Amino acid sequence: MNEYQPPWAADAACRHLPKEIFFAAEADTESRARAASACEACPVLQLCRDAALAKTAELAEDDDLDLDFGFWALTTPEDRIAIIVMRREHELHDEASR
Ligand code: SF4
Repeated sequence: MNEYQPPWAADAACRHLPKEIFFAAEADTESRARAASACEACPVLQLCRDAALAKTAELAEDDDLDLDFGFWALTTPEDRIAIIVMRREHELHDEASR
């Protein structure tokens, strides 16, 4: 089965790393540090983060969010949920102040 890869994935710093390090438990500090190090040097971090936020929002909308769903672009699923909630609050605030 072919997994869809967005075009920017060809430039990802993690393209040759084992995927498991991005799905390691938070307590696995060695894997988490290796993943974070790749993300910090990654030229497509922002594109990856945008995709991770979109996917997290989609899963949350479907009530299908697995909080083990990976460490992407220096964010945990909890970080992404916090960003999504904060953005929604800002949007609501902006709408209310118009
Ligand atoms: S930001 Fe991290 S997870 Fe995303 S593509 Fe780059 S190295 Fe991979």
